[in-house]
Amino acid sequence: MGKINILDKSVYNRIAAGEVVERPFSVVKELVENAIDSGADNISITITDGGKQLIRVSDNGCGIEKDDLPKAFMPHATSKIENVEDLDTIATLGFRGEALASIASVAKVTITSEIEGASFGYTITAENGVVGEPEMYPFDKGTTVEVFDLFKNIPARAKFLKPSKNEETDITNIVSRLILAHPEISFKYTADDKMILQSYGGGLSEAIIQIYGYEAASDCMIIDTVKNGIKISGYIGNYYFVKPNRTYQTVILNGRYIINNTIQSAIHNAYSGYLMKRKYPFYILNIEMPKEFVDVNVHPNKTDVRFMDNQVIYGIIYSVISKALDGSAGAENIVKSNPYFQLDPGSRPIVKQPKPDVADMKLVKCDRPYEPQLFSPTSPHFAFRHAKEPVEFVGGDPEEKAALDDIFAENKKYIEQLEKEQKEREAKQETFDVDENFRIVGQVLTTYLILEKGQEIFFIDQHAAHERLIFDKLMEDFKKGKVAEQSLLVPVVIRTNEKETEFLLGKLDYLHGMGMDIVEYDVNQFNVYSVPLVLTDLDVNAFIEDILSDMTLRQSDVPDIIREKLAQKACKSAIKSGKVLSDGEKGALLMQLKDNMGLRCPHGRPVAVKITRTEIDKWFKRIV
Ligand code: ADP
Ligand code: MG
Repeated sequence: MGKINILDKSVYNRIAAGEVVERPFSVVKELVENAIDSGADNISITITDGGKQLIRVSDNGCGIEKDDLPKAFMPHATSKIENVEDLDTIATLGFRGEALASIASVAKVTITSEIEGASFGYTITAENGVVGEPEMYPFDKGTTVEVFDLFKNIPARAKFLKPSKNEETDITNIVSRLILAHPEISFKYTADDKMILQSYGGGLSEAIIQIYGYEAASDCMIIDTVKNGIKISGYIGNYYFVKPNRTYQTVILNGRYIINNTIQSAIHNAYSGYLMKRKYPFYILNIEMPKEFVDVNVHPNKTDVRFMDNQVIYGIIYSVISKALDGSAGAENIVKSNPYFQLDPGSRPIVKQPKPDVADMKLVKCDRPYEPQLFSPTSPHFAFRHAKEPVEFVGGDPEEKAALDDIFAENKKYIEQLEKEQKEREAKQETFDVDENFRIVGQVLTTYLILEKGQEIFFIDQHAAHERLIFDKLMEDFKKGKVAEQSLLVPVVIRTNEKETEFLLGKLDYLHGMGMDIVEYDVNQFNVYSVPLVLTDLDVNAFIEDILSDMTLRQSDVPDIIREKLAQKACKSAIKSGKVLSDGEKGALLMQLKDNMGLRCPHGRPVAVKITRTEIDKWFKRIV
C-alpha cells in the first residue's frame, strides 16, 4: 500500500471534515474499512460489551511497516493519497488519515502487524494520546487493531453510549452491510464470544443467505442491468416481502456501503404503490459507475456521496426498480432467474467451507503481490472484484472526455423522457390518501366504485381492493398466530432424516402457533393432525417439504407457500366484479381502504386510479 505520509494542509483542508468516531459501530466501520483497503481476503471482528470494552479487527492484508506504525496514529497520516489530484481518483475506502488518530484520542489502541515476507511483526500501543514505540512481536502476515475501553476516560462521551445490547445491534448492522459490500472477503464476527455472523467470500448470493437466510433470498428478485454506463444489480424484495424498518436496505456504490437520499427515494418511490404505511422494502442494491460520476469526499465517514447529476441517478434507479416490480416491458432484461426461489432440498447450493481464523493462521504467504483495491472501472481488479462484465468506462483524455459528455447528453435525454412518462403515469395513478371528506358516487359496470373527493375522482376496482384488504388481514393474523385449526380426517405422515427431525423439533412451537397440530410420532416421523383453518386445502407434505428445504425459517417469516395460499384465499373470498354492492358494503370497503388507495392487489394490479378535475376539464376544453 506504500508508505504512510502526512498530508499537506492544502490537501486535508479539501477533505470533508468532522468527527468520525461517534459510537462503537463507527470504530468498527473504520477498522474494517482499513482492513479491506489493506487487500485482506479474511477479516475477523470481535467485540465485547457492545464494543465498549473491546473492539478487535484482524486481517490478512498487506500489513504496516515498523517505521509506519507510529505514523499511523498521527492526524492526516495516510498511505492512500498524497496530493489534491488524488482526491479525484480515490480508489480506497479510507483517505482522510484520521480514523486511527481519532480513535486513539478516545481509547487505548494497540496495532500489531507484520508485512509480507517479514519473519516477525511489531506491536505498538497508544493511550491517552501518548504513542509508544514499536516492539518486536511474533505474528502472521496482516494486521490486528485492538481498541480497549472506548470513551472510558471521557465521561461526557461515554454518557451518550447506548446500552451494550443496542450498541451491539448497531455494530451487527454495520458489519452486515460491510459483508454485503464485500462478499468476496471472508468475514467472521463474534460478540461476547458468541458467533454472530460468518461469510466465506463466495459472492453476494452466499453473503445474503448467510446474513438473512434462504427465505430472504428466495423472496427477492435478482436484478442485473447496465443503463447508460451505470450498472445496477443485486437483490430487491418482491413487493410483499416487507420489513418494519430500514435496516434491511443496503446500497453499495462502487464497493462502498453508502446511505444516500437520492437513491433511497428513487427505490422507495418505485415501491410506493405496493407498500402499506410504515413498511419498508428489502433490498441490497449494487451500483457501479465511472468515478467521474460521483464524489465520495463529501462526508467525514464517507457514508454519503454526491452525484454529478442527481436526476440522472434517480431516474435510472427508479425506472429499473419500477420495471422489475411491474414486470412491465423491459423487465425481462433486468430480472434474472432466482435459483433460491422454491428451492427443493436437493438443489440447495453448497456453501463454501470456512477459512481458518485470521488470528489462528500461521504466517500465510501471499502468492500474489498486493495491489491496492482500485475501484476504477479501468482496472482489471475492478472487473474481478465487482462485476462479471465491467461497466463501460469513459476516462480522462480528450477523446474519452467527449465520450463522457455524450453519455451525459444521452442521460439528459433519457431523464426527460422518463420524467414525461412519469408525469403521464402520475396523472393516471399514484399513491394517495382519502380522508373523511369523500362522497361515494356509486358503482359502475358492477366492477368499479367511483369516489369524489375535493377536485379528484377515484375509480376503485372492488375486487382488487377487497382482495388486498383481506390479504393484509390474513397475513397479519397469521403472523400473530391468530388462526383457528381444522382437524384432518386422517393424519398426514411426514418422514424425515435426522437433520430434518432436529430442525422440525425446534420449530414445533412455531408450527403450533400457526395453527398446525404436528407431533413427533416416532423416530424420524411426524404426524400432522390439524392445519390452520385458512389453509384447509393446503398440501401438508408440500408445505413441510418447503420448510425443510429452507431450514432457516425464523419466527417472523411467512413461508412462500403460505403466502401464496393466503393470496388465493383472499382472492376467493373477496367480492367479485359483477357483484352489485349495497350502500353499506360500498361504505365499509372504502372506509377500510382510506389511507391505502395506492396499494396493489396481491398480484400487483392497482387498487385505485385517480382522475383530477384538470384532466376532465381538459377533455371538455375548458382548459387547454
Ligand atoms: P486512512 O484509512 O484514511 O488512510 P486511517 O487513520 O484509518 O486513515 O489509517 C492510517 C493509515 O494506517 C492508513 O493509510 C494505512 O496506511 C495504515 N493502516 C491502518 N489500518 C491498516 C490495516 N488494517 N492494514 C494495513 N494498513 C493499515
Ligand atoms: Mg481508514
